[in-house]
Amino acid sequence: MKSSKINACIKISVIALCLLGCKKDSTQAVIDTPVVQVTVPEIYKKIYGASSITSDGTYITIKTTGMPDHKSIYYNATNSLYQDFSGTTYGGYTFKKNPNAVVGFNYTFKIPVNPQVAAVHAPTALAAIGVSLNGVPFYNQYAGPNQPLTNEFMSFDQYYGHPTANGNYHYHVEPLYLTTVKATKSSLLGFLLDGFPVYGTEENGVKVTNAMLDAYHGHTHSTTEYPNGIYHYHITDADPYINGSGYYGTPGTVTQ
Ligand SMILES: [Zn+2]
Ligand SMILES: [Zn+2]
Repeated sequence: MKSSKINACIKISVIALCLLGCKKDSTQAVIDTPVVQVTVPEIYKKIYGASSITSDGTYITIKTTGMPDHKSIYYNATNSLYQDFSGTTYGGYTFKKNPNAVVGFNYTFKIPVNPQVAAVHAPTALAAIGVSLNGVPFYNQYAGPNQPLTNEFMSFDQYYGHPTANGNYHYHVEPLYLTTVKATKSSLLGFLLDGFPVYGTEENGVKVTNAMLDAYHGHTHSTTEYPNGIYHYHITDADPYINGSGYYGTPGTVTQ
């Protein structure tokens, strides 16, 4: 189609311009159609919440603001995505808002395009450990150093995310907007920094349990996106939720 060709041209031009002289994109505020380099493998184009996705052949670089595209009580009341929330949240807890609010950042996730199992499995940090389809970071199973999430569940909003004191919105558990609105409970939902994909809470109509997964919270078999098979993480409803004893593969990097 003609218009899509024109669009592609514009996108290529933008990338070309950026290669020539762009510094850091610091003005992104609203999630828009990401600028995706033509050489980026199809699978990464599922990350619809990115401002740009590029590849150097070794790493995929994904830039996002980390701000959710769904309603949240953690947006300022003047934001169109603000929505009040009360009642029951994740795990049956009665919602209790934390004092923080969503802030946009300039996240740059660099993840290996050919993920490899690591000889030594690096631990995850108390910060972004991966990126979900809408650009919101995944966090690990801790509220603080070796502190379980027990006292945090109640602050998860209508879509099971919440912001840190600095305003970094994130998901420690099932991202409900993705599993119920944008995708399904058995969909690919994002990637951890080691490049291995994260899938949802179900597989072939069956709820995934921790017993079906290894120490890193994944297993290997073919998926829709990887017909030849791949190691992948699953999100479950029991600790450690997304990732277990560190990264299965060698992680890339994230800056904000
Ligand atoms: Zn948290
Ligand atoms: Zn699986």
